[in-house]
Amino acid sequence: MKKTLWTAIILCLVLGPLVAQDYWTTHIISVEKKQETLKKLSHMDLDFLMEWENKIYIVANFDDFPQLHEENVPYTLETFNFFPFKHTRRRILQGGVNGAYHSYSELEQDLFALEDSYPNLAKVSVIGESLEGRNIYALKISDNVNSDEAEAEVLFTGCHHAREWISVEIPFLLGSYLLENYATDPQVQNLVNQSEIWIVPLVNPDGLYYSIHFYRYWRKNRRNNGDGTYGVDLNRNYGYQWGYDNTGSTPYTFSETYRGPSAFSEPETQAIRDLFAQRNFNALISYHSYSQVILYPWGYTDQPSADDLLLEQIATDMSTRIQSVNGNIYGYMQSGESFYLTNGDTTDWSYGVYGIPSFTIELPPADRLQGQFFNAEEDIQSIFNDNLPAMFYLVDWAVQNSSPPGGSSEEIRRTPGIRLEVKQEFRDERTEKKRRLAQKISIERSARKKSSGPRIKPIGKQNLSQNDPERKQKKKKIFKE
Ligand SMILES: [Zn+2]
Repeated sequence: MKKTLWTAIILCLVLGPLVAQDYWTTHIISVEKKQETLKKLSHMDLDFLMEWENKIYIVANFDDFPQLHEENVPYTLETFNFFPFKHTRRRILQGGVNGAYHSYSELEQDLFALEDSYPNLAKVSVIGESLEGRNIYALKISDNVNSDEAEAEVLFTGCHHAREWISVEIPFLLGSYLLENYATDPQVQNLVNQSEIWIVPLVNPDGLYYSIHFYRYWRKNRRNNGDGTYGVDLNRNYGYQWGYDNTGSTPYTFSETYRGPSAFSEPETQAIRDLFAQRNFNALISYHSYSQVILYPWGYTDQPSADDLLLEQIATDMSTRIQSVNGNIYGYMQSGESFYLTNGDTTDWSYGVYGIPSFTIELPPADRLQGQFFNAEEDIQSIFNDNLPAMFYLVDWAVQNSSPPGGSSEEIRRTPGIRLEVKQEFRDERTEKKRRLAQKISIERSARKKSSGPRIKPIGKQNLSQNDPERKQKKKKIFKE
């Protein structure tokens, strides 16, 4: 017993400086995937991480342990499997502990390799520097890439959140796909010739480094908050309705959604802000994971934006295109109407300040039990294949809807050269959908009034009010992207 205690103390001393502060309050445990255990877990509010080799992995906080004991759920402590010295087991993976996923330096090499191979089409630039001094890279793709032409500009970003490794790969793969197929694919050629496509695949390089080498589950950047905690949530640090309330972000440094001391306090978000100031972007997608859903502003409120109809139309069109590849369904909705409110995120800012269609795409998996922040290396390519037509669609939309700077369109708003028009057929279709939904709700309501049985709540989001316990439950169950 004494020996165990000493071992524990020595481990603490050796590992202490290495690990994130939340390591000590958060553990990763596994439980056998058995019917009776699952039944017990189903009514506990736990943070499910993934399912692997017949085990369920859970991120457990200290207050989860008494519950597990009370319910007599046997578990294994797995935290140390997520640390680098245990990763030696996995080094057989191509490319080290991160396998087929890019590390910062691998990405750097690959971006420059693309620039070297396609000097007339690809240009890498440094748009900022992270807190720990890593470069934040942008890859610009266009014909005559070295000159600034009056063309539609679209921005694709990835990895605001460190553990969302797949979100680096999807925008990066777009870049390599466009370049590798330019010579042979007329559709690619056409798009690239008419637009300037900007890709910032890794907004949070320090966080990714930490997630790969120290703690897989790390989310924020690596700001030392000065009180023993680390990290600002970069996707809560943008300057539109920053800190609007404490639901969509928090002022607490230890929190996973800590918004930072002020809007744009972080060099990583400043880099994106400054890039916007130099460019004329017409549309944006910010990739995250997980959930398989397309979200559009507003996120800070559940009130619709002035362009709600247009944003919904583009999201619908993108979802349809994704589904057409392999049948995978990405839902779509206004961010603030989904699982939770979010303030200070990229898309509220880019839409709120620049008036451009802006989307957060939460990549697969669809939910926690299908892997949460983990996607198999073999799935990277198919997730990209699914998303490619939606990316093409948005670039094409920007090309079709932008006019040269100085154009006289009355539709021009904050950003010169963008027309925000909704297709008439979409307007009609949506009116019809709303009418059918209203009819359905009214039928259900009258049926409920007549019925003396238990009250059944329709699932439609229109029926979940702020104070509705079902909505609260939904908010609580889904981890913030
Ligand atoms: Zn995210």
